[in-house]
Amino acid sequence: MHQASVLIIDDEPSVRKMIAATLEGEGYHIHYAENGLEGLEITRIVSPEIVILDLKMPEMDGLGFLEELKPKPEDPRAIIVLTGHGDVKEIEACYQAGVNSFLRKPFHLAELRGVVKNAVDLKRHAFNLDQLVQTRTKQLEEESMAKSQVLSTATHELRTPLTSMLGYVQRVLHRPDKVGPLTDRRRSYLGAAEKNALRLKALIENILDVSKVEAGNLDLDPVEVDVREQIDDILTEMEYDITEKQIEVVIDIPDDLPQVMTDQLRFSQIVTNLLSNAFKYSPEFATVTISARPADKFVQVDVIDTGVGISKTDQTKLFTKFFRADNSSTTEVPGTGLGLFIVKHLVGAMGGRIWMESEEDVGTTFSFVLPASGGALAVERPAA
Ligand code: ADP
Repeated sequence: MHQASVLIIDDEPSVRKMIAATLEGEGYHIHYAENGLEGLEITRIVSPEIVILDLKMPEMDGLGFLEELKPKPEDPRAIIVLTGHGDVKEIEACYQAGVNSFLRKPFHLAELRGVVKNAVDLKRHAFNLDQLVQTRTKQLEEESMAKSQVLSTATHELRTPLTSMLGYVQRVLHRPDKVGPLTDRRRSYLGAAEKNALRLKALIENILDVSKVEAGNLDLDPVEVDVREQIDDILTEMEYDITEKQIEVVIDIPDDLPQVMTDQLRFSQIVTNLLSNAFKYSPEFATVTISARPADKFVQVDVIDTGVGISKTDQTKLFTKFFRADNSSTTEVPGTGLGLFIVKHLVGAMGGRIWMESEEDVGTTFSFVLPASGGALAVERPAA
């Protein structure tokens, strides 16, 4: 048996009585109104699950009622409109108002029962589905948060012993004055251990950054940064990568370039990442250009290489997590596909934008803008 409440809005007492008697027999709880105005009031007070609405009534007719109520698909109530044979215009208006359930007069009582039962079932079904979706979404969000938390904690725990191991390896390798001389073979073995430990460290740091991006807590500290100075420092740090492949680096930065408002470490991370990719995905003896110039209230930085390039399909996925392009270099060059995902979010969080242009076998240009000091303000936005 149904327990739903039904509001009958009709000025004809005999019709109200007939509908009420039929539905009461089905277990519905009945309310009445004689016109639209009264109907509105009762709707607000008793929130009926079903409204059976006549069109032609004194004071406020059915369409007037709908105009005031403004029914929406997500409303918990269903509206069934009683129509006559010639009510084509009114039916159209009802559809416009968001009502699509009709009962044409004269109707059989079995039709009335059927239409009302369908309306109740549909609304309840929709309501249950909505509840289910909400519960599931909440569960998934909680699960995802918990997973990020576990990942973040585990990664922190991995970093501590690794830092210690790397410290000892580097001490033996680089401080013969303290630790004693090494044979060539031992130096080469420890060199391999150091290289792999550094790779692992970079991976762990990337994963930690991804979890910060996703939790929206990047902790940025924007200050005025001199681009030229930063780039010189970065290139000194990367000297090994540059000489290893004999890359020619061209710097094109005007002396009067405004400073940028940015977190210094994160700026360095962005440029290091783009340069490291430019070196990684270029052949030996290639040229990599880094240029910077003012652009409106921003400073634009371009990292231009003449390397393998990226196909049009891969370009669309480049900034997504774990994506690595399908070219011959990626199989040879180690990487995680996290770098550009992090870079994109860092630039965005500091009020900038990043984009790229590339042609296969010709080269790639990554460009980003960050607010110039005194220009647009750097704002940290939570991760999408
Ligand atoms: P990783 O380099 O660790 O794989 P990134 O997120 O930095 O991760 O880059 C994602 C992918 O984009 C790389 O695997 C590579 O295929 C491609 N890519 C990035 N920069 C370049 C570039 N300058 N030239 C060619 N391909 C690039």
